[in-house]
Amino acid sequence: MKKTFFDRFIIGYFSLMFTFFLILLVYTTGLAKRSLISERENTLINEGHMIIKQAIEPYYEGKNSLTTLALDFEDLSDFTSTDLWYLDKTGNTVIYTNKLNASKIPDSIYDIVPTFTLNEELKMKNTFYGLYENDVLSVGIPILANTDSIDSTEVNGYLILHTSVTTLNKYPYEIFVACYIPVIVLILISCLFLAYLSSRVFKPISKISAAAKQYAAGNFAERINIHSNDELGELSTNLEYMADEINKLDEYRRQFIANISHDFRSPLTSIKGYVEAMLDGTIPPEKQEKYLNTVLSETKRLTKLTTGLLELNTFDRQGIMLKVEDFDIRKSINGTINTFEGTCNKKFIRLVLVDTAKQHIVTADKTKIQQVIYNLIDNAIKFSPHGSTITVKITQHQSKVFISVKDSGIGIDKEKQKKIWDRFYKTDSSRGKDKQGTGLGLSITKEIIKAHNENINVISTPGVGSEFIFTLTLSANQPLSYPSHSVSRDAKLPE
Ligand code: ADP
Repeated sequence: MKKTFFDRFIIGYFSLMFTFFLILLVYTTGLAKRSLISERENTLINEGHMIIKQAIEPYYEGKNSLTTLALDFEDLSDFTSTDLWYLDKTGNTVIYTNKLNASKIPDSIYDIVPTFTLNEELKMKNTFYGLYENDVLSVGIPILANTDSIDSTEVNGYLILHTSVTTLNKYPYEIFVACYIPVIVLILISCLFLAYLSSRVFKPISKISAAAKQYAAGNFAERINIHSNDELGELSTNLEYMADEINKLDEYRRQFIANISHDFRSPLTSIKGYVEAMLDGTIPPEKQEKYLNTVLSETKRLTKLTTGLLELNTFDRQGIMLKVEDFDIRKSINGTINTFEGTCNKKFIRLVLVDTAKQHIVTADKTKIQQVIYNLIDNAIKFSPHGSTITVKITQHQSKVFISVKDSGIGIDKEKQKKIWDRFYKTDSSRGKDKQGTGLGLSITKEIIKAHNENINVISTPGVGSEFIFTLTLSANQPLSYPSHSVSRDAKLPE
């Protein structure tokens, strides 16, 4: 089964807590046991000194007989729950009690420990040289001769006390019950609390992860629905936003490919149709010129489409590389107007330049701005009726020049005015009015103007005409004087 991060977190936390608890248990229990043993040893030594004082010394002084001493040992052994061994100064066992069932009581201590020293205190916890079945706590106290000298070390006898440690072993259990059970309960409560807190974090994370999977599979409509005012809420909002953007991009890509396919297929179909008809004789040789011209026009359209696409693709990949320089905008407009002479003549269109600007040297990419002017005049001519006038106007406002191209053509509906800047958008999608149109001209135009950090806008009324206006920045280096005037290109009107 797949382990979630949440599982790992909880298991990790539990293991860590359990290990800490175990270490604490072993350490504190050992500590408690050691301190209990040392406490018990001290008590035994005190008891031993008391027995020496109250029972053995009166015997030495002749106040008690050995029988009385033996009886006293029995009573004291019962009372203190200890085995008492009294050895004389030669190490021989004189009196003993055996409540703890030693396997044997040695006649002399030297029988079991040949190197035993009677003038040293003894403390040990074991089976006392194998005499007891279980561990016992044993202390030995030298009984010093009652001399006047303070530092007397002369030994008169030796008292050994043995006590069972089973009572000591039960103390750690009591400590365990008293201290560790509340600790365990506290740890369990903290784990539950942690689990609750973690679920508040991990649940949203798994929701986000599930949504990310959906997005990867292309289902961008999936919503995460985490509206908390924290990092996770922000992350999910950003992810949803990203999904929407990818969705839009995806939709745009689909639309883009559909448009390209459509725009390439129609001219290719008509070229194929005409060429086949010419080859199989459906179109007689005397009519072929007319159809060859149509084929030429379709190939021109394909070339224009490919050029536009390549251009936009370069803009997308590298941004627009501008070769900014100072140039005379009026000269550029005039030059562009001249290229339309033939087209204007054909449609009897009057192309007028009105110039009210005082300064004309602008800082921009000359070739690209010429392309913009070309696109705008080309569109104006395409959508203007025969015999109409198109006005190109240069006006100045402070450090800016405004260039407008105004026609009295078909105009553009209000709701379509926003869309004309989109790639492939044509208001007349059947291309009845504009057979050469690709729908890329205005998007290229807008990209160029945007790259210059300038603005372009349209004012249009259907049936009245359109005016496209864009701005350019004047250069600081202007010639001293520049006369403003208007020029016009009049087309010959039909007889
Ligand atoms: P195209 O390369 O086909 O001319 P554009 O991007 O330049 O494409 O123009 C997009 C659409 O905007 C055109 O198909 C047309 O419908 C509309 N349009 C552009 N200029 C004008 C204009 N001067 N008058 C009316 N419609 C226009």
